[in-house]
Amino acid sequence: MNNPKIWLSSPHMGGGELAFVNEAFETNWIAPLGPHVNGFEKDLENFVGGQYKAAALSSGTAALHLALIILGVKAGDEVICQSMTFSASANPIVYQGATPVFIDSEEDTWNMSPWVLETAIQDRIKSGKKPKAIIVVHLYGMPAKMDEILAISKKYEIPLIEDAAEALGSTYKGKAAGSFGDLSILSFNGNKIITTSGGGALLSKNEEWISKARFLATQARDPAPHYEHSHIGYNYRMSNICAGIGRGQMQVLHKRIEQRRKNFTFYTNALAQKEEIKFLAEKNDNFFSNRWLTTILVSDIKALKNIHTSLSDNNIECRPLWKPMHLQPVFAGVPYYGEKISENLFNSGLCLPSGSNLTEKHLSRVVDKINVALGVILVY
Ligand SMILES: *Cc1c(COP(=O)(O)O)cnc(C)c1O
Repeated sequence: MNNPKIWLSSPHMGGGELAFVNEAFETNWIAPLGPHVNGFEKDLENFVGGQYKAAALSSGTAALHLALIILGVKAGDEVICQSMTFSASANPIVYQGATPVFIDSEEDTWNMSPWVLETAIQDRIKSGKKPKAIIVVHLYGMPAKMDEILAISKKYEIPLIEDAAEALGSTYKGKAAGSFGDLSILSFNGNKIITTSGGGALLSKNEEWISKARFLATQARDPAPHYEHSHIGYNYRMSNICAGIGRGQMQVLHKRIEQRRKNFTFYTNALAQKEEIKFLAEKNDNFFSNRWLTTILVSDIKALKNIHTSLSDNNIECRPLWKPMHLQPVFAGVPYYGEKISENLFNSGLCLPSGSNLTEKHLSRVVDKINVALGVILVY
């Protein structure tokens, strides 16, 4: 076929993974524990830095769930969450029987608006319920305004959970994404910048919390010769095989960041003359994005539709931006603070193919099809 599928973000093995996986087979460590799990955790701790400890888990969603449990979030509580995100940021709030309170984005980073966040906290406190936690997300790899958000978290003494699922390798003021939250989470799902096929991690400077996460993630077995339980446990640990893949992927993470950023540069250069298309820039030197996905905003709704159709018709995967949680049927009636920033982004945005394994030829094909779509518009 001369029109092979171009994926949005597909797994990209570095070559070192198989040696780790083979080692797991040879030593029979085929279990949700083992030397690769410990090794992968060390790799993550070294990469994120800032004295953060890591627990390798079965998914980023599991990591968020444990973060909420560790912070004592219970039925009837409220947890603040960025509205524009993947549903996995918010679902664990509901697992705990708590209610999300959704916050709009701001235009510089597309992440949680600090101003709206503070307004919401004041309003919730006034109505008698102080939120138990704040979940901030670095969408598509772009760091959120962490100084402002951390200041609010401190001022109101509400712990911060940093959802860095899309932002491994991004930095804010030179510090790694994942090194800001009281608890932070990463994801290694198949579409993320590196993958373990499926997996995640919980990070914190609080070692007791990380020990507790490992305990809860392995069915909460108390020390005893028989199976003794004083807590409800979960089966959330990462397998030694997956962790082996992760160790191999960590060897090439720096390359992956470079490659994803190169995609972004290619698209911005190639489409610089298109008035209808805007990219999200790094606001200043404080913001460094891993450019997990390159996204565009298209000013004309017809042009947006044409681009989407043109790419899809040519076997090129593209996708609208995350639909904000406050617009999701499952969260109808849930409290929301903000205006229409995230809604407008959703209505005019598109994610372009961004895998680190795409060649310039692939990227040129995408750009050509966008040009064709915009050409059609000019006829109107
Ligand atoms: C992928 C993702 C998650 C969930 O991670 P999984 O490992 O797929 O469970 C959470 N939050 C965001 C923002 C994500 O993109």
